[in-house]
Amino acid sequence: MTDLRALIRDIPDYPKPGILFYDITPVLGHPIGFTHLIERMADPFRDAGVTKVAGIEARGFTVAAPVATELEAGFIPIRKPGKLPYQVHRREYSLEYGTDALEMHTDAIQPGDRVLVVDDVIATGGTAAAALALLGEAGAEVLAVSVFIDLGFLNGADALEGVPFHALLTYD
Ligand code: AMP
Repeated sequence: MTDLRALIRDIPDYPKPGILFYDITPVLGHPIGFTHLIERMADPFRDAGVTKVAGIEARGFTVAAPVATELEAGFIPIRKPGKLPYQVHRREYSLEYGTDALEMHTDAIQPGDRVLVVDDVIATGGTAAAALALLGEAGAEVLAVSVFIDLGFLNGADALEGVPFHALLTYD
């Protein structure tokens, strides 16, 4: 089994001074590493009856869409404002400085859908919490939030208000 942690590249001071950025592109670029990443992220949910996987733009798409096909589920793109062509639900959320927003198509969720939220990294949890709020507004049943990397020292999972949380790797 590929050592995924060894493939993650730490980039100091990106995108700004003081941030240690965990670059997953070497994992994505590794033929077997990428396959193992997707299989291992799908494993805990193979018997969970997931009907849709929701992914968050843009790095989140690289992981969420293949997890969706691995689980034989549909894929829901959650995107930055103005990117989705149809009617949207919109949720603003706080960043370290200022605010941002996420949008999701109003017809993304159908009655009976069981949704898994997948992202690459959870840091403060603000992005994932905004995604959960969007899905809640649409009436979705969210089974869990699953990420490749949890920056555990930022306690992002605490922002998920009790929604089950799974991480493949945790950095403390
Ligand atoms: P947050 O809303 O604080 O949980 O941040 C979530 C998003 O920011 C994640 O989807 C990541 O893509 C990105 N992110 C935040 N901090 C880092 C980091 N140190 N390394 C890599 N990605 C990060």
